[in-house]
Amino acid sequence: MFDVNVNVKARMLTQTSAAMTSLPTDSLAPPVVAQGSSQVPPRSGLHYPLQERLPDLGSALEVAPGVFWLRMGLPFALNHINLWLLRDRLPHPTQSGVMQEGWTAVDCGIDNPATRQAWEQIEQNVLQGLPILRVLATHMHPDHMGLAHWLCERWQAPLWMSTSEYQSALLACSGLSNFGGDPTVQFFAAHGWNKAEDLAVVRSRVGYYPSMVPKVPRAYVRLMAGAQVRIGDRLWQCISGYGHSPEHMALHDAKNQLLISGDMLLPSISTNVSVYAMEPDGNPLQHFLDSLSKMQHLGDETLVLPSHGRPFQGAAARIAQLRSHHAERLDELVLACSAQALCAHDALPLIFKRPLDVHQTTFAMGEAVAHMNLLWLDGRLSREQDATGIYRFKARQSQSSAKPTGD
Ligand SMILES: [Zn+2]
Repeated sequence: MFDVNVNVKARMLTQTSAAMTSLPTDSLAPPVVAQGSSQVPPRSGLHYPLQERLPDLGSALEVAPGVFWLRMGLPFALNHINLWLLRDRLPHPTQSGVMQEGWTAVDCGIDNPATRQAWEQIEQNVLQGLPILRVLATHMHPDHMGLAHWLCERWQAPLWMSTSEYQSALLACSGLSNFGGDPTVQFFAAHGWNKAEDLAVVRSRVGYYPSMVPKVPRAYVRLMAGAQVRIGDRLWQCISGYGHSPEHMALHDAKNQLLISGDMLLPSISTNVSVYAMEPDGNPLQHFLDSLSKMQHLGDETLVLPSHGRPFQGAAARIAQLRSHHAERLDELVLACSAQALCAHDALPLIFKRPLDVHQTTFAMGEAVAHMNLLWLDGRLSREQDATGIYRFKARQSQSSAKPTGD
């Protein structure tokens, strides 16, 4: 629910926010202007083939045959999410040998009255009288998952998603949230955030996820890495992604050079990558960087359909930007930790170059620990717990292939 945005090129703060449940994002890279005319996609670099066109609320824009782009509002600074409607055709549930025409909805929006109303408009304006045959969620974050229960009930449609995402949604919906409560307070305190009034706010924030995802469908169909899903005339391959959420699934139509990237590849903000109390020694930033490699091979002509921002071409160029952005921040942290041992809370002003409120600090802390953990686990930093229980990270003199030590 938040995004602290840093201009990648100028390394200056360019945009503030508050945002998402899912995607707190931490950086805003300037769009790279394509070389050449808009009619001829460049061989490299980011390119927005639809230019400034956006679908209006309650309507859709067809971005490829049978693939429609919807935008729903979000009550955060990151104020929209992109959803996708794919023309589909599945065996009729009760009439043997009959195929039923309809749609697959990819992602849902959060559960609030405005988003339900927007879906009702979509029903009137876009669905052409055909039903939603299935709901596919890229991952469990509230902006993607919130209305899955409502759409599935409304259309008697099954939910398709990965097992880790489904089970994480169930946990979060039942109150075992990663966003607040005592375990989160203890986790933050161990990384140096000890201001009592701030932590009281974090402690009280236990109903955050269910406020946007009040229910999760009781059953689902499992998506797995590498599996192929036929949706209408298209064959989509699932590409798993880690670091942003437990088992994110992007969808790749190789034949037609289309990628539904979810939150794993965004054109103008970098994906939030956080450590949470439930897995305090996790290495989500390394997992995220490794996951990007699975999309590295996509040709420049592949049209990437992201969950935030505009459809773009130039996946490899965007991945290179993201890698260099994270590499620079990691190098800065190692340098800072060579002067003195720092805890993750000490590192906040190094990573986020503006004041943060309590809400933003919760996400910033998760990101800061993600950076520290990567450097600790790859041996560039050592980690020790001091007498007060706070983890402090120090640069190793020799950054060889040493294994992590300390604590
Ligand atoms: Zn997300």
